[in-house]
Amino acid sequence: MPERRGGAAFTALRRAIEGGASLPKTLVIVAHPDDETIGASTLLGRCERLRVVHVTDGSPRDLRDARNAGCADRGSYAALRHEEAIAALALCGVPADAMECWQITDQEAALHLPKIVAAIEKALQDFAPRWVLTHAYEGGHPDHDAVAFATHLACEAAGRRGAAPTLIEMAGYHAGPEGMVSGVFLPAECEGEIDVELDEALRARKAAMFAAFASQRGVLAAFGIGRERFRVAPSYDFREAPHAGRLFYENFPWGMSASFWKELSRSVLASRVDASACAVPIPSRVPLTSGAPQE
Ligand SMILES: [Zn+2]
Repeated sequence: MPERRGGAAFTALRRAIEGGASLPKTLVIVAHPDDETIGASTLLGRCERLRVVHVTDGSPRDLRDARNAGCADRGSYAALRHEEAIAALALCGVPADAMECWQITDQEAALHLPKIVAAIEKALQDFAPRWVLTHAYEGGHPDHDAVAFATHLACEAAGRRGAAPTLIEMAGYHAGPEGMVSGVFLPAECEGEIDVELDEALRARKAAMFAAFASQRGVLAAFGIGRERFRVAPSYDFREAPHAGRLFYENFPWGMSASFWKELSRSVLASRVDASACAVPIPSRVPLTSGAPQE
């Protein structure tokens, strides 16, 4: 009988997270500034070396969120979100230069999958992390699923070169029978989960980090600060939707549906046969122009 995915890796992961020692060199790859805080605030300050990638700039083409945050345009809102992330991560000792933004437009990551896969492959080669932490495949937000998919593909490619990191995922959110379910994984074939209960000091720090994302106050109010869950990423079939029924993101006008997702993911998997299809790298460090929010 084959070993369930993540056997030895899960044991090592649990020991490391539940122990008090430093965590190994880790690359965190998430869709938006604040995702790392929602899902993994407890791990961020504990790594020997850490790099945090925000694949999107957190600034949708639709300017409603930007205007609500007092920004007149997409660029100002992206800069604001980047600055909020710098302030939040500083609270757990992560310096600004450990963070980079790849500046894909928010809500559009799934339209740039080959480019994102190539950029992650390059980041894996350059940084050579032992752990990679990303989103679970949940149908919560299309950018999260796109980043999870791209990270899985890039880690599989690293594995073929004999340099596979341990791929870890954090619980985000998905559709439940009565609305959004957050901080809980969808069921998957894997060894187990690590359920971290934040003590008073960690909860206070996470609350302060949330507060640093002032433009996201309304969104972050939906997430608790008491627990974070991690597991070795299971093997997903990205050609299929993450679960049956209506996906959480299908409740929003974000231009994504399960059927469109399947078209995109299947096309990327087909194109992986020709590795050259993914040879369009994103510059790894794109400076964001700092701009004050407009009145
Ligand atoms: Zn997000």
